[in-house]
Amino acid sequence: MGDRPAVLISACLMGAPVRYDGRGKPLGESMATTLAAASRLVPLCPELAGGFAVPRPPAEIEAGGSGEDVLDGRARVIERGGRDVTDAFLDGARKALAVAAEQGCRFALLIDGSPSCGSRLIYDGSFSGTKHAGNGVTAALLARNGIAVFAPADTDKLLESLI
Ligand code: SF4
Repeated sequence: MGDRPAVLISACLMGAPVRYDGRGKPLGESMATTLAAASRLVPLCPELAGGFAVPRPPAEIEAGGSGEDVLDGRARVIERGGRDVTDAFLDGARKALAVAAEQGCRFALLIDGSPSCGSRLIYDGSFSGTKHAGNGVTAALLARNGIAVFAPADTDKLLESLI
């Protein structure tokens, strides 16, 4: 079924153990089956694409900033412990965009809360577990390039868009 729309999907949503803590965060089985029937899924982890290993320290966008701020040079991505990892996050985002373009993805389903993949909520940079409205670096770059980014909570809306 080569005519199914391609959807870039966070690799951890497919169950790949690529998160900073070495775990995946898979979609429920029935939703995964429905989605796979309606689309051609293109799994990718922007942080691994940017050169990170598993496991790795958690990272957050500093001072309540967003992926938009990182793209525009107004905020950095900082690991717990203080290392500036902004360049690697930007590199991963650019690689995700390149894969999306190669694969013809007009849609993306990205896990929320991540400094790369979050599209509705991200952590605020204080490493205190506090979230705020905003997107991650990859989600922001994809959206800027016309790709419709959905969070797992909006999978039903994504499915409607695929029809
Ligand atoms: Fe999952 Fe995205 Fe984090 Fe990779 S960068 S582990 S795909 S949320």
